[in-house]
This record gives sequence, C-alpha cells and structure tokens, in this order.
Amino acid sequence: MTAAADLVLTNAEVHTLESPDETHEAVAIRDGEIVRAGRAFDVELLAGVETRVVDCDDRVVLPGFIDAHTHLPNVGRSLVHADLSVAESADDAVSLLEERASAVHDGEWVLGFGYDESTWDESRYLTRADLDAVSETVPVVAFREDLHTAGVNSVVLDRFGDEMDPEGVQTESGDPTGVVVEEAVDVLWEATEPGREEMTELVRAAQEYATARGVTGVHDMVRGSRAPEVYRDLAAAGELDLRVRINYWSDHFDALHETGLRTNHGDGLVTVGAIKTFTDGSFGGRTAKLSEPYADAPDETGQWVVSPDELAELVAEADDADYQLTAHAIGDEAIETVLDAYESTADPASARHRVEHVELASDDAIERFAELGVVASVQPNFLRWADEGGLYDARLGGRRRQTNRYRDLLDAGVNLAFGSDCMPLGPLLGIDHATDHPNPDQSLTVTEALRAYTSGGAYAGFDEDRLGGIEPGATADVVVLHESPWEAESIRDVDVAMTVVDGRVVFEALD
Ligand SMILES: [Zn+2]
Repeated sequence: MTAAADLVLTNAEVHTLESPDETHEAVAIRDGEIVRAGRAFDVELLAGVETRVVDCDDRVVLPGFIDAHTHLPNVGRSLVHADLSVAESADDAVSLLEERASAVHDGEWVLGFGYDESTWDESRYLTRADLDAVSETVPVVAFREDLHTAGVNSVVLDRFGDEMDPEGVQTESGDPTGVVVEEAVDVLWEATEPGREEMTELVRAAQEYATARGVTGVHDMVRGSRAPEVYRDLAAAGELDLRVRINYWSDHFDALHETGLRTNHGDGLVTVGAIKTFTDGSFGGRTAKLSEPYADAPDETGQWVVSPDELAELVAEADDADYQLTAHAIGDEAIETVLDAYESTADPASARHRVEHVELASDDAIERFAELGVVASVQPNFLRWADEGGLYDARLGGRRRQTNRYRDLLDAGVNLAFGSDCMPLGPLLGIDHATDHPNPDQSLTVTEALRAYTSGGAYAGFDEDRLGGIEPGATADVVVLHESPWEAESIRDVDVAMTVVDGRVVFEALD
C-alpha cells in the first residue's frame, strides 16, 4: 500500500514546462517531494485522511520561480524602512521619512530607500534642508534608487562628514548640501549595516515579499553582511521560506576556501553558490565598458571596476579550487573580457561559470557563450530602459537594439537564467517584459520565458535534477497562479494563489 500524500493539488492545469503542451490535472506531494503527477483520478488515490486536498479550480500550477540574481536584504530594507520608491515628490519622500521617524526607537537611524527624482515634477536630489525637517536629533538618510547617491541630514554630516571622501560630499558656497555620492556613500553603508537581529527582520520581510510573488528559490549575492548566518539559522529553525543559493563576493573567497566550503556544499535549503566579482559599472553611470564610445559622451568608453588582469587571476585561482564563478559584465568589452578569462579555465561548461547582466553582447560573444557552456544570467525587468528615448537609447544610440538579446542567446543554445536584481523583485514582471521585448525579434514565448525563470535558474545552480520541473522525484517547489500566463492580458498583473517550497505551503491567497 502506497503512503498517503501530505498535499494534493487537483483540478488544476499543471504545466511541467518540459514540452510546451504537456499538462497534468493534479500533483501529489509527500515529504517535500512530488510523488505523482497525472490525471486527477489517479493522483487523488494518494489522498488519505490526513492529506490536504486543494481544489485548484482550473488554476495553473508551475514549477516555482527561481530568481537567479537577488539582494534579499535590500528588499527587506525597503519593506522595513521607508520605501521612497513610491514618493511622487520631495515633499512626499519627507512625509514618508517622518512616518518612519515616528516608528523607530529612541536614537535609531531613520532610513529611506529607493527614491527616484527623475519621476518627479521637480526633479532634484533630497538635501539636508529636506532631511533636517524630518529630524534634527537623529541621523536621517535617504538612499537614491541607484544606491550610489544619498541625502543626509545635519546630524549625519556632523557625525560622519569627516570620514567621507570629500570629493563625494557636494557643497554650495562651501557648505555641504546634504547630497553625497559614490565613495562618500560607503561610510553610510558601513554605519547602517544591519546587525544579526535586524538582518533577521529584513530577511523575514523579504522572503514574505518574494514567496507572495511565486519565488521558491533565489541566488543571493552576498558581501560582508550577516545574511549568510541568518539564512542558515532560519533554515535550521524551519523558518526559511525559500531556497537560498549564496553567491559570495570574491572578498570571501579565501575564507571559504580555508574553511572548506565549496560550490554546491550545503543542505537542501541553503547552498554555497559561486564566487562573485565585478568587471565594469553600469550604463546609468556611463561606467559599463564599451568597445565604442558612449553616444552621449564621445570621449568615454566606461571604466573597469575590476581590471582584466585582476579578473583573470581570480578566475584562475577560484576555478583551480573547484569554485563556480560569476562576474558582473554589462558592456560588450566587459563581456568579452569575462569570456576570455573563462575560456582559459579547464572546463568552463562543467563549472557552469556565469556572467551577470550581459546587456550588450556581440554576435561573437553569444557564440562563445554557447561554445564554452557559460550561463547568461540576465534580468528582463531591465527592458524598461530599452524603449526609444530610454536610458539605452541615450547612452548607446542605435546600439540599444543590440541589448538584452534573449532570442539570439536562446537560439544559439546558451543556458539562460532569469533574475531581477531586485529592481524590483518579481518573476511575472520579468516574464511580461521578456515576452514583449521592445525589439520584437528578441521576444521569447511565454513557455521559454517561464523556463528561464525556472529550469534556467535550476541549471545555473546545479539543481536541474531536483528543481525547475514537475515530475515524480522532483523537489516540491511549485506555484499556483490565479490566471494562466499564456492567456492573461497582462502577465505582470497575474496574482499568485499559492507558493509551496519543499512541500510546505509558504504563501496562500486562494480566494
Ligand atoms: Zn546585483
């Protein structure tokens, strides 16, 4: 006699995503595993007295989404502190910060995240005058969306002004305006780096937000924070609601190596991922490394954040020690440089080395991705910059048509993993963008885009045998959607009805 299932999802449209049309009516889950998928009648045979049977009322069931590039603590920060991304003016931002000020304990910093003055009628940075209105006794900081610019009040300038890189502290007739940029902002990051307790609060908030959007696993980029220990503590307590594969910044490489923590080590929920590094900057800051100058700055071709030599050295060393690598590369020159470094390793395909962003890839680069078996980890939500008159247009002119070439990558046979970089986090938003590419011949089908957000991420994390599909033996990470993404008018507006991670219901909004 077969043991009863813990959970049965029935009367559903279960898409395995293996072949475009393969569907089942039901799926049964036991001990965190999918034990049967097929006709409702056959699957319901596994329902015992203790089994929870969910009538899905023809809703769509899919493998859970894997966001292959996240910064969960940042998501938590916007949720716990003031979320300035919703501010529609400087005054609005100040009121949101005032609201937060009334909620913090005595002496605690008042922080806001994500303001974007470019969307305001009066487009200007937040200054000390704005922020002194929030408080003249406790530190107040408003971080801009790009995290490279912040507004601070007089308390912060008094306490930290001397430590800040003077070049990054803007002044007006000799007085600091309260606007600080680039390296000067680092002082603020250090001063506000969350301790263990706050980090736990941030991760809890972020996982709630992520699972409500159907995310069952993330590849989180971690540098010098308490996040890794918090992920492991929550997992040990049975309170981690999604899978976290930690991609550690290269600063941590020596420590990982020394302590014997290698790529893919870890239990089911928390695993060691790749060693993460940078090469270039971003298009916004004209620091992405280009082979031809910027359209709006004919003398500039971007900057190395990590030099090609330094990159090659790290890649050789980490690959030698059997680590997966991943490198941020946005401009065509940076992408080629990473591929050069990977090409010189013993077996880049088996190591599944990856490149983050891949925004401007040449024909040659795409071919090399395929040949070398390198994973392209891309963020379809970045397509909001790809319209005529948008950021890519300003920086790249006609080359904007060569950005984010998902169709070309897929057709060349490149392993494509989708993620959000938390700008913002939301797989269905990304899938909406990828299926409606501003350059239509680069659009993906709904099935292809869903795969990049499920099995694509699973492959990038060496998890394709347990994640990214719905079949007996696979880990029970699934999502139930209220509307079919194949039929919805607006995929980004499709709501999640249920999220299951490791067989456990971690989010539910069935009605
Ligand atoms: Zn990132």
